[in-house]
Amino acid sequence: MFSKIPFDRINWVTSSFLIVTFFTALIGTPLYIAHFGIDLFQILLFVFFFIATGMSITLGYHRLFAHKAFKASRSVKLTTLLFGAAAFEDSALDWSSDHREHHKHVDDEHDDPYAISKGFFWAHMGWIFFKLYPRPLANVGDLKKDPLVMWQHRHHRPIGFAVGFLLPAMIGYFYGGWESALGGFLIAGLARLVCVQHCTFFINSLCHTIGKRPYDSSTSARDSWLMAIFTFGEGYHNYHHSFQHDYRNGVKPWQWDPTKWAIWTLSKLGLATELRRVPEEKIVLAELREMKHQAEAQIASGSTWKFTCPTREEAYATLLELSQQLSEGYSELEKAVGDRIKISGEALSRWRQMSADVGEQILLLRSLQAQPSMA
Ligand SMILES: [Zn+2]
Ligand SMILES: [Zn+2]
Repeated sequence: MFSKIPFDRINWVTSSFLIVTFFTALIGTPLYIAHFGIDLFQILLFVFFFIATGMSITLGYHRLFAHKAFKASRSVKLTTLLFGAAAFEDSALDWSSDHREHHKHVDDEHDDPYAISKGFFWAHMGWIFFKLYPRPLANVGDLKKDPLVMWQHRHHRPIGFAVGFLLPAMIGYFYGGWESALGGFLIAGLARLVCVQHCTFFINSLCHTIGKRPYDSSTSARDSWLMAIFTFGEGYHNYHHSFQHDYRNGVKPWQWDPTKWAIWTLSKLGLATELRRVPEEKIVLAELREMKHQAEAQIASGSTWKFTCPTREEAYATLLELSQQLSEGYSELEKAVGDRIKISGEALSRWRQMSADVGEQILLLRSLQAQPSMA
């Protein structure tokens, strides 16, 4: 049963830490609550550490260090490096190196460190149990020049223990003695750690499994509002893989992306600058390109389909016509973007409507195809 596990490559320290923290949190937290109960202080301490460490990963490790989606002041860098270490997801340098490989080789079984093509559990956390390769860190030369990043890289484990376990225990002690200290360690420390880690792991597993692909269906990355709730806005992963340097993942105004809002707020406070945004016309162009591919695939699948009733024939003909208009619209927009012509919001809305019409027609045709033949 265990013969296929490459024992020589197991990362024993990391694996033991993951397993021990998980089971201690799972058993220790309910035991503590059953014995001592839980008060508002412990809940607020958990929420604070959950947000501080979780967003240090999404805002700091991910968007700031791995993607350089904006520039941040030393205080923001230091805060995210301190609280990011308390999420125990390696140093920002190692994390960014793995993550840049993930974007460069997404879905490649060999070079994507957490390729979903190797299975859900592998992408979620299985990859962490193994030493994948000695990290050459050649892809993080820019981060190696940052003294704060290198300081955290050398000391991230003691920093993690101090900020992630000792600090909530001490705050608990000053609030209510040893009983509260134990609660702080177990709830805001251990249970929070397990929650934050699995929220991050969801990005590599569920965000490559559930949701839609409105920008690019050639990768497994997906957009899901549900996953955005659990991941501080990282759930709009199809957009992110299409435009990885944008500081926004939920690019639409109504999409849940607290990390984006936090970065924007920091910029208003003068603590973040040079927020990178993909121009709207390039986003619409990607949406149109994806819809064009979907329409072409639908037309190809419909061409071998017997037209046994006028409704189906009519729907197919309408899709052909709308798809032709979309192709022309796409070429027009592609040229305008290439020539850097300023495009009004009204014009972009027309292109978007064109794409939405094709989308509706594809859905109609799919539902007609799913119905039994009238012949
Ligand atoms: Zn991804
Ligand atoms: Zn990314």
